Amino acid sequence: MNIASQAAQIGLDWDTRTGAVTVPIYQTATFRHPGLGQSTGYDYSRSGNPTRQALEDGIAKLDGGCRGFAYASGMAAITSLLFLFSHGDHIIVTEDLYGGTYRLFEKIFNQYGLEFTYVDTSDTSAVTSAIQPNTKALFVESLTNPLLKVADISALSALCREKGLLCIVDNTFLTPYLLRPLDLGADITVYSGTKYLAGHNDTVCGLVVVKDPELAEKVYFHQNGAGAVLGPQDSWLAIRGIKTLSVRLDRQQENAQTIAEWLTRHPLVRKVYYPGLPGHPGHELLKAQGSGFGAMISFEVADPSLVEPLLLRTGLISFAESLGGVETLITFPEVQTHADIEPEKREKLGINKVLLRLSVGIENVDDLIADLDQAFAIEEAA
Ligand SMILES: *Cc1c(COP(=O)(O)O)cnc(C)c1O
Repeated sequence: MNIASQAAQIGLDWDTRTGAVTVPIYQTATFRHPGLGQSTGYDYSRSGNPTRQALEDGIAKLDGGCRGFAYASGMAAITSLLFLFSHGDHIIVTEDLYGGTYRLFEKIFNQYGLEFTYVDTSDTSAVTSAIQPNTKALFVESLTNPLLKVADISALSALCREKGLLCIVDNTFLTPYLLRPLDLGADITVYSGTKYLAGHNDTVCGLVVVKDPELAEKVYFHQNGAGAVLGPQDSWLAIRGIKTLSVRLDRQQENAQTIAEWLTRHPLVRKVYYPGLPGHPGHELLKAQGSGFGAMISFEVADPSLVEPLLLRTGLISFAESLGGVETLITFPEVQTHADIEPEKREKLGINKVLLRLSVGIENVDDLIADLDQAFAIEEAA
């Protein structure tokens, strides 16, 4: 079945007793046992909750995995995956990755003896060169944040299989609607469900999908053991969001393509990063491995003095962190999402004083362009 159909119908058959079309919110901490040593399949909501399970089953299906897991946030999901490793293990990581993931690895898990090496994962040979005897995994963002580099998930998965490493893909920017890393050979996908999957800037959640049942057992043990599970209300919001994933992303991508093309023609824009542009280094690769280019655009303005007007004088577009929702947001990665990365490292990566990031929403594209245009025009007039 097409993924758009699967997404629309997530949770549909859950409540066979009443035939409810949407999943009920099972707002309960515990469940009555029918008899001694008997269980309905649910005992306590940290271990399992029907609303959460509808979401977990749904995302597993969308991603082509054997089992899904829902967490209180994307960071909680990534944290839970790190419990698969022990003191002395080494993990290779995408260098321009989400700032919060970098902070988790460098400021928290470093203390527990995990080692991380950051490389440009759009360069498979750079990953190969970074492998050490104690390397246990690759943690790769399929489309990076904020520079939108594209990783060759097929080649990286093959490399991981050959070297006995776990291939973990943070597929937040693309979602299974645009890229299915498990089909390409990866072992685990992880999502900030807060972004495109839930899609409405109304809940924070994290999701994981695992391909292999034995590995899924371990991930479940850690999910239940550490306990950072997603509550039933937020699980319901995530399910509700996923139902419209395909229509939202279709519109968001269409808008992003138009805006990216408009930005490339703007005299006050120095550089545009959008994989849907034919000149983007990952364009052909993403076209071959995925089914779309997403709706994130990063761009450099001609002068640092343009940054503030663009952030503050856009009206329809909100100056806010996060991404993936139906509302268009503009962010300044250097001081917002990537503030925890050391200044020299940021500069080297290209996260600089003139780089802005747009998360394109579903609004009318002419309105969005008019909003950007007037913000640029104010500065030109000044
Ligand atoms: C937002 C984000 C995260 C963290 O997710 P939260 O839901 O904010 O905890 C991880 N990875 C990427 C790529 C993100 O954009």
